[in-house]
Amino acid sequence: MNGNILQTPIDYLKGVGPNRADLLRKELGIHTYQDLINLFPNRYIDRTQYYKINQLQQNASEVQVVGKITNLKEVAQKRGKRLVATFQDDTGTMEFVWFRGHKWIRDSIKLNTPYVAFGKVNWFNGRFSIPHPELELVAEHEKNLRSAMQAVYPSTEKLSNKGITNRVIIKIIQQLFLETKGKFTETLSKDLIEEQKLLSKSEALFNVHFPKSQSLLAHAQFRLKFEELFYIQLQLILKNLIHKSKIKGFPFKKVGNHFNTFFKDHLPFELTNAQKRVIKEIRHDLGSNAQMNRLLQGDVGSGKTIVALMSMLIAIDNGFQACLMAPTEILSVQHYNNLKEQCKKLNISIKLLTGSTKTLERRKIHESLENGKLNILIGTHALLEDKVKFKNLGLAIIDEQHRFGVAQRSKLWKKGPTSREVGGAVPPHILVMTATPIPRTLAMSVYGDLDISIIDELPPGRKEIKTVHRFDKNRLQVFRFIRDEIKKGRQVYIVYPLIQESSAMDYKDLMDGYESISRDFPMPEYQISIVHGKMKAADKDYEMQRFAKGETQIMVATTVIEVGVNVPNASVMIIESAERFGLSQLHQLRGRVGRGAEQSYCILMTGHKLSNDSRTRLETMVSTNDGFEIAEVDLKLRGPGDIMGTQQSGVLNLKIADIVKDKDILQQARFYAKRVLSQDPTLSSTDNKVILNTYKQLSKYKNIWNYIS
Ligand code: ADP
Ligand code: MG
Repeated sequence: MNGNILQTPIDYLKGVGPNRADLLRKELGIHTYQDLINLFPNRYIDRTQYYKINQLQQNASEVQVVGKITNLKEVAQKRGKRLVATFQDDTGTMEFVWFRGHKWIRDSIKLNTPYVAFGKVNWFNGRFSIPHPELELVAEHEKNLRSAMQAVYPSTEKLSNKGITNRVIIKIIQQLFLETKGKFTETLSKDLIEEQKLLSKSEALFNVHFPKSQSLLAHAQFRLKFEELFYIQLQLILKNLIHKSKIKGFPFKKVGNHFNTFFKDHLPFELTNAQKRVIKEIRHDLGSNAQMNRLLQGDVGSGKTIVALMSMLIAIDNGFQACLMAPTEILSVQHYNNLKEQCKKLNISIKLLTGSTKTLERRKIHESLENGKLNILIGTHALLEDKVKFKNLGLAIIDEQHRFGVAQRSKLWKKGPTSREVGGAVPPHILVMTATPIPRTLAMSVYGDLDISIIDELPPGRKEIKTVHRFDKNRLQVFRFIRDEIKKGRQVYIVYPLIQESSAMDYKDLMDGYESISRDFPMPEYQISIVHGKMKAADKDYEMQRFAKGETQIMVATTVIEVGVNVPNASVMIIESAERFGLSQLHQLRGRVGRGAEQSYCILMTGHKLSNDSRTRLETMVSTNDGFEIAEVDLKLRGPGDIMGTQQSGVLNLKIADIVKDKDILQQARFYAKRVLSQDPTLSSTDNKVILNTYKQLSKYKNIWNYIS
């Protein structure tokens, strides 16, 4: 069957018609035959089994019963009426109930005629009943193409209200198979099919809609999932290759004076092997003629900052400027102070630009940026303003990139210098850093077009942070523990949830907490800092600095301290209402401690009532410190939809594969996509022709090139 018939609008399929076509388009996004064939079932039910009414159980499962409707009546209820049918077989009676669509049902039901009914059984008023059953005349039921496993398709309330039940969907898909004779163009190469022992496209499609057996269904699903993931990977890998060959970047040919001096004389510690490896990867990128577009993943505290710094030194050594953008003012200030300190013996100029930079200073920064006197600019998204113009920005680094959007990233691209040789603006090399580890499988799909570096090793001497879960009633004990730690010279964070900075309730919680802590830890013995989103930036910074210098022992804060803040002497992290935080946020917060040589602790405080999900989150935090492990659990709990960055990518629009459950298939698909492209980069061999054609077809309909570049 050639691809063209599959592009036929759905209206033309027998049994569809304009009204149904309209609903299918609006409710399920089905426009063409192709879309319909790619409407994959959510699940399957066993239709080989028929129940007698006296066999029914009160466990609300889906059953199939055979019998006659003997009576139909409307019963008044609080609002409107319900339609009730009495259904009878040779063992007893039960009820069917409809809350909507009465007229249509009254008109179509035949009394005292054998029906097969299917639906979820309820136990109600001492009888079994099925609300909104699927009904089919026995005579028709026997005629239909039937398979043991019956597909259950995605639906919407509107569809079932308008009578487009699962059965109707099955019927029109059957019709589609009739019209196309069930023959579909193969979309994978012979090689792949043979090597992977895959079903053919036609067999797979048939068995996913009308499985002949459990095992054929499994094979069909595997084939279709593999194919879907294969083409996504192919697209990402191709994009990356094209990017490298097309997008020129400034080659940073040398590693010069600043880098070498720093490396020899000023490195504050020995680099970990992971850091060394990552710096090598970055140096390699920077030295090639292509623009670097790299994601650096590393758990909290793994030491990404030094990697950023050394990369910037390479840029300066090659006569370029560099910038580092961080999501919050606190973090920018901290980076600024830290880099200034580390580079004080080097002859380079570093400035800080944030929303609270004074006009005069701002003007000076603009000037020195444009005349090239400034080497490194650090700041918040203030860096993105149009007025900020670099003389020759060669490297842009984004810290905690999940806090920024794609739009902001692409703005940085445009801040590169204009070069006559290359003919137009050349984007700076881009390094994005994140401490929100994305499970590898997801990273492959979401960031498959970026190169990925991973720091998978913490600096030596770090002790595991001991994490415990305590209920509110244990508060006195927890306070005693805090006192003991402070006595030892340590410092403590106490964090309150503040999901929205404007939420008055949360603010009150924080203030109440602060008051009670001030009572339990009175001045002058104890000094307490407080930081929250409603404060002016300067005040926030002042309080942070007091804590960082050790002038205060307790920092009461909201999640504004979530990212990046570094106070190595702080060894206790108390998280209040921990059940309200997401896993990655809890992990980030915990990462604020365990930065020094001392044993650190994280105490998760909660009330007594906990949902299953919060319980899982807390247990995960208690059982592991590994950010990647935590990210996997997070992905399982929330699905990919909420994971940062996935919104922009295709992974959410998967039709049959599941990024979480099918990660093994994803890995295989990626492996084969890479292999195919390494053997035949232009996909021009005879065997790969089918891949090229399918790929072109897919890109035509999916508009897959609309990435940030
Ligand atoms: P993150 O990856 O979370 O941004 P940082 O770069 O802030 O981590 O590093 C965390 C802490 O570890 C800092 O105090 C930093 O100076 C220190 N650090 C980084 N690398 C090393 C290393 N190789 N050896 C010892 N300490 C290190
Ligand atoms: Mg950091």
